[in-house]
Amino acid sequence: MHCSACAKGALIEIRMHVGGSPLTFRRCGRCEAQTWESPDGHIPLTRVLELAAK
Ligand SMILES: [Zn+2]
Repeated sequence: MHCSACAKGALIEIRMHVGGSPLTFRRCGRCEAQTWESPDGHIPLTRVLELAAK
């Protein structure tokens, strides 16, 4: 799977549970773009922090 931002970097994928929700964190090794994904799709970092604060 490759980065959607630069289309060239390989993504590092980390799965974790935040506030009871299974989330996937992806980080590009080339451009350092970072994305969070919930079972419902992409979510912003602010949403991740909200989940973590529960
Ligand atoms: Zn990238």
